[in-house]
Amino acid sequence: MLQRVNPGTKSLADYRSIIRRELYDEIRDLSARLDGARVLHVNATSFGGGVAEILYTLVPLMRDVGIQADWGIMFGAEPFFNVTKGFHNALQGADYELTVEGRAIYEEYNRQSAAALVEAEDEWDLMFIHDPQPALLKHFTEGLSEKTKWIWRCHIDTSTPNKQVLDYLAPYIEGYDAQIYTMNEYTPPGIELPNLTLIPPAIDPLSPKNMALSHDDARYIVNQFGVDTSRPFILQVSRFDPWKDPLGVIDVYRAAKEEVPETQLVLIGSMAHDDPEGWDYWYKTVNYAAGDQDIFLFSNLTNVGAIEVNAFQSLADVVIQKSIREGFGLVVSEALWKGRPMVAGRVGGIPMQVTAGGGILVDTVHEAATACAKLLKDPEYAAEMGRRGKEHVREHYLTPRLLRDDLALFAKLLGV
Ligand code: UDP
Repeated sequence: MLQRVNPGTKSLADYRSIIRRELYDEIRDLSARLDGARVLHVNATSFGGGVAEILYTLVPLMRDVGIQADWGIMFGAEPFFNVTKGFHNALQGADYELTVEGRAIYEEYNRQSAAALVEAEDEWDLMFIHDPQPALLKHFTEGLSEKTKWIWRCHIDTSTPNKQVLDYLAPYIEGYDAQIYTMNEYTPPGIELPNLTLIPPAIDPLSPKNMALSHDDARYIVNQFGVDTSRPFILQVSRFDPWKDPLGVIDVYRAAKEEVPETQLVLIGSMAHDDPEGWDYWYKTVNYAAGDQDIFLFSNLTNVGAIEVNAFQSLADVVIQKSIREGFGLVVSEALWKGRPMVAGRVGGIPMQVTAGGGILVDTVHEAATACAKLLKDPEYAAEMGRRGKEHVREHYLTPRLLRDDLALFAKLLGV
């Protein structure tokens, strides 16, 4: 038996006033056709990362509309995660030496997890496998049930993968009944993808991170962190990672501050105790800030959790996402949903979130600084941009849309 996650409960009815009526009806129609289909989501962790964040909303909503959805965590331990972190980076283009030992570790954890699934003797209509860690489950559960349909959901950009790792994984991935990618540009070159389905991720507008906070409550929270809420601030929420370019953000702030001297900068990033790279980059950023009293660095380790992120995002005068490389960039939709104007790098999933008018796409520090200064100096222009961004997110990047897209694929695979 795989470890099950209890994701709590959610009700689609609560989203009714937020989403379009047609979307609500489409979900009801699809779930009626699916008639209690049994779905098992499997991934590698219930904590941290975008996939867990999404499943905590998606699984309860699937249950609420009558799907028998469960969420299982595959077996894992440090040697396995070391290998799969290597795979993850390699699929995104990093160098990686695929060793016989690495393959053996990866296969063994998949084999054990598959054996646990077979032993449990549960019947599933659909297996929903997330990311590379559990990708061999289908292979090792051969014979579980002829009728079960298998979906592989890839959350990362595999367009320029390390060839060794892709060649190794390709036959397993090709064996799935359907594959989901965030966008066409993220699919790997030269492999067969039957029933390729493009579905971008989404944010939960009712989670503590995204639910409506009053201006006063947001200000009350932000004030407690020492940020002067009578002056404007620019915000970036991101891991401390070279691809998120926090040093570039400081350059942007410095240039914008020349035009709007009272500007402050807030950088928020989640830190893991076992992520030495993150710490290196945190200290690099602290050094680069050079004691500037108007630059604030916060993290989960200084008590900035979901509600606090919400408060900072709700109150920021400009939200920046100066990524050099990006997956989807959930933080962009999070900020747009709060009606904030964005200044964001033209990479990964950012343009599709921002192009409808919620922000300004930039390629350089200079462009970003010019955009920030313009928004800081013209609050009406900023507010109008924020309104447009929010409507675009409402239409495209909230969880009910993701639920509808997943259910439509289920119906197609099950022929109902
Ligand atoms: N996040 C957070 N606290 C932080 C930094 C990030 O809660 O200090 C969250 C952020 O709100 C978002 C997720 O982590 O929900 C990051 O997802 P995204 O797709 O933007 O980037 P990734 O880290 O997956 O590259």
